[in-house]
Amino acid sequence: MRNISRALERATAGKRLSAEETLLLYEAPIEELRAAADEIRRQKTPPQLAYYVISGTIDYTNVCSVGCGFCHFYRTRHHPEASTLTLEEILGQMEDMRKVGARLILFQGGINPDLPFEWYEEVLKAVKSEYPGIHIDGFSPEEVLGMERLTGRSSKEVLERLKQAGLDGLPGASAEVLVDDVRRLTAPTRIPTRDWCRIIEEALEVGLHSSWVSMVFGMGETAKERVSHLTLLRQIQDRALERSYPSRFFSFKVWPMRLASTRASRRVVSRGGKVYPVGPEEYQENQRERGAACSSAEETAAMYLREVAIARLALDNIPNHSALWLTQGFKVAQMALQSGANDLQETGAINAVNAAVLAAGKALPQVTPQLLSQIFNCIEGVGRKPAQRDAYYRVVEPAGLSYGH
Ligand code: SF4
Repeated sequence: MRNISRALERATAGKRLSAEETLLLYEAPIEELRAAADEIRRQKTPPQLAYYVISGTIDYTNVCSVGCGFCHFYRTRHHPEASTLTLEEILGQMEDMRKVGARLILFQGGINPDLPFEWYEEVLKAVKSEYPGIHIDGFSPEEVLGMERLTGRSSKEVLERLKQAGLDGLPGASAEVLVDDVRRLTAPTRIPTRDWCRIIEEALEVGLHSSWVSMVFGMGETAKERVSHLTLLRQIQDRALERSYPSRFFSFKVWPMRLASTRASRRVVSRGGKVYPVGPEEYQENQRERGAACSSAEETAAMYLREVAIARLALDNIPNHSALWLTQGFKVAQMALQSGANDLQETGAINAVNAAVLAAGKALPQVTPQLLSQIFNCIEGVGRKPAQRDAYYRVVEPAGLSYGH
């Protein structure tokens, strides 16, 4: 216990935690951990504010040749539900977002072998020229790797061409847990850690904004592997800052994976490294043995809040940390805002996660005055002021219900 208290004291004094110290935080009393993370939030961000942003997502294709075992979203190219949006449909969705005052959009999809690279360039150019005021975050290192393989061009050239066509930012999606042993558990064909790091670093180097990086827990990983993931993100950010890249990570978000109804739930690896198929109950048991299990919504929420707090303390070079209400609910999101988070997401639908949200029986949000009121209530309920932000975390207007301009 003495070592845990010392780690918390060091973190609140602004000292960088080692991987060993970060690992100790998994044993820390939750209220002390949350208080320490909240203290750092106060020190590093405007203490009286919590940000929100009006944003949306365009899932341009659900056709994907990667086939991650945890993904509810993708369809194979000949599947009856396989679909790719036309340019007109994409512009139609952009118009809907403009009407509700969206500041940024996230453009994401599967790795569709039938889409030529020129298709991406044409879409970006058309969207940018019609909606120059809306920031376009798009794709993920996985999608860029797909374009690299498709075109035979280097990923750096791919990124430069996408930027030239109108792309503003590449989010740190497709990360989950950046430990290859963990990635092999649930998605053996997923982008390997080394390629993910290479592409995200190139994106920062060519000046593509990186609104967020993330961690998805509950993939069969251990606490030590989560720490390894956080340490890797911190190292990439250190390099971006040391080398004065034109971009860097602006925020971090974490959420729990819902594996229970996916193919991945039947493929787990025991401590000895043996792969064997198991049913959902055995899966939970195995996860528990590995220190990663959450068998109830309450347990998942508690683990989520612990992760939010640990990330705030471990990622000392990433300024903003998000609270997610869509999958966690407003009550848990409020607790996350008191556990180190300073940014309430999402006002728009969220990418491939949409499918997981629907699978969990929840409705996708529409940006309405009612939704904005709920967001304001959530933020004000913890004694803070809602501040609308843009993709760069600049406050763009005083808090107030702005809708439909
Ligand atoms: S997570 Fe992405 S890459 Fe994996 S199957 Fe789904 S759409 Fe494809």
